[in-house]
Amino acid sequence: MTDSKVCPGCNELKSLDEYPLDAMTRNGHTSRCAVCVRARVRDYRKTPAGRKARREQMARYRQRNKARNLTLREQANSPS
Ligand SMILES: [Zn+2]
Repeated sequence: MTDSKVCPGCNELKSLDEYPLDAMTRNGHTSRCAVCVRARVRDYRKTPAGRKARREQMARYRQRNKARNLTLREQANSPS
């Protein structure tokens, strides 16, 4: 028998298979089901805070790539 539990997001009894894996929790699954996790992320991205966080994430990502590209170029130019 598969373990199942009630999702606090949608109040539905679902098998643990429907809860995404999360190494941080004791049972290895997120507390909310996959549907609710996805819905939460989607809603969060609609809020000003969510959009800001996403923008900052993208900026960090670009910054990292830029730094790496510069390093690669410097290594290529430097005489060995
Ligand atoms: Zn749910």
